[in-house]
Amino acid sequence: MQIRPAHTYPKAHPEALTFTRVPENSLIRDLGVKLGLCQPSQEAELNPKIFSQRYCQEVQKLLPDGVLPDNLEQAYQLALAALPPLQAAALAGEVAQALVSPELEQRAAEAVPVRAHGALTRQVEQGCERAGMPIPNKVWVIRSEEWDACSHFGGIAVASAYLDSARPARLHFVVGHELSHSRHRDDIAMLGFEALSQGVSQPLLGYALKQDLKALHHAMELRSDREGWAYAEAQQTEPQQLFQEVADLLGQQQESDTHPAGRERLQQLRPR
Ligand SMILES: [Zn+2]
Repeated sequence: MQIRPAHTYPKAHPEALTFTRVPENSLIRDLGVKLGLCQPSQEAELNPKIFSQRYCQEVQKLLPDGVLPDNLEQAYQLALAALPPLQAAALAGEVAQALVSPELEQRAAEAVPVRAHGALTRQVEQGCERAGMPIPNKVWVIRSEEWDACSHFGGIAVASAYLDSARPARLHFVVGHELSHSRHRDDIAMLGFEALSQGVSQPLLGYALKQDLKALHHAMELRSDREGWAYAEAQQTEPQQLFQEVADLLGQQQESDTHPAGRERLQQLRPR
């Protein structure tokens, strides 16, 4: 008898990732402009048609009678009937990650018209070896005095403000945190969440989805904090000093849709 894995995803789609103009208030756009990532204000987006088809197909597999949903909103409603709410939302992230191959991410990282930062790249490569983690596609530095960092297309970007040689612990933590986002491909999952949100028009359903996405975002941040901490520790950072640096960085942050409050983030990191 042949046994199939419980959940198999179809192959990645070569046209899954497209580039589009971004809204004025996009934080990523601000970062992109500082980075010079994209000359016209452009941002990666999932091809909505391909994403919708795949999400519907995945939901179809969950249904006992295997009916293919007509559209994304109907698919999400049916997914809610078959799965716990958080998982119905998380499915969007999984579908997005299955659609976009690591090769496609690598090509997108190569196409970014900004050169990787040589010195930090070497430091991160050594850091990854020490921590036993995979090396990212690219390491970019944003020229900024603000505490910005992000991960895109399997690469990571940090603000030049972090390149203070007197405070290596803080840089290690931020690099480790972004490496974690990059390794788990959270940026691609977020594109899936966005695509799902755009397909949902019913206010109540939209509100519930927004709450679930907030919970998923927060869980990603807490996980990346823990893995960022582990990365920094692997760089022989003294735990008390590391905690002080991380507390300086996160301590005052308010809760947002994408990030837990600084206090909650610090609670799980306190050295014992
Ligand atoms: Zn983060």
